[in-house]
Amino acid sequence: MIEAVLWDVDDTLFDHSGAERIAALRYFAAQGLDTDETALRRWREITDEEYTRFTAGELTFAGQRRERVRRLLERELSDAEADAWFGRYLEVFEASWSAFPDVDGVFEVLAAPPYRHGILSNSTTAVQERKLTMLGLRHRFEFVVCSDDLGCSKPDPRAFLQACSALGLPPEHVAYVGDRLDLDALGAQAAGLTGIWLDRTGAGASVPEGIHRITGLAQLPGVLRG
Ligand SMILES: [Mg+2]
Repeated sequence: MIEAVLWDVDDTLFDHSGAERIAALRYFAAQGLDTDETALRRWREITDEEYTRFTAGELTFAGQRRERVRRLLERELSDAEADAWFGRYLEVFEASWSAFPDVDGVFEVLAAPPYRHGILSNSTTAVQERKLTMLGLRHRFEFVVCSDDLGCSKPDPRAFLQACSALGLPPEHVAYVGDRLDLDALGAQAAGLTGIWLDRTGAGASVPEGIHRITGLAQLPGVLRG
């Protein structure tokens, strides 16, 4: 029986892609940069690549931000210059933050026992604590554990098992919900948890054996009840 749910944050609870798109459109326009689809796609690709280097331990959190700015602007920038540029971008980005509209509803259903909730994210604890607080969601979770504290990142099974330890539950009593099939659902499954893939796009890629695919959080209570 599932007694607890561990959650991903970005693009699961928090509309990261939507906020990033709005922020890039606004900030790039103000900076005189291109704002067409090609420019937005390039920013996403740069972000994905540099963030992957951060989760692999090749860059610090600040370092991946600086590299994203340097690659986008295609010029040499000091750390201070890159930090200043990214800081102004962050202000616009944070003004665009919102949770997905189905988040409140699912916690209305799942807030009661037997379900307990925690956060396991590949970001940093300070960033996610602040984000969840600003979104009015922090009180839903017993804890926030992130890769900077754990010393490992999803899909490493150790990340999932450490989060289960924080719950004091064996992995077979815990489900993980996230938007990435590879990092989230398959990673969780490999560690012995129930892997639930939140496929918000409904792209409908084939679903591996044992993985539960949902296209919105309203479907989650039914999956947990089995
Ligand atoms: Mg995510």
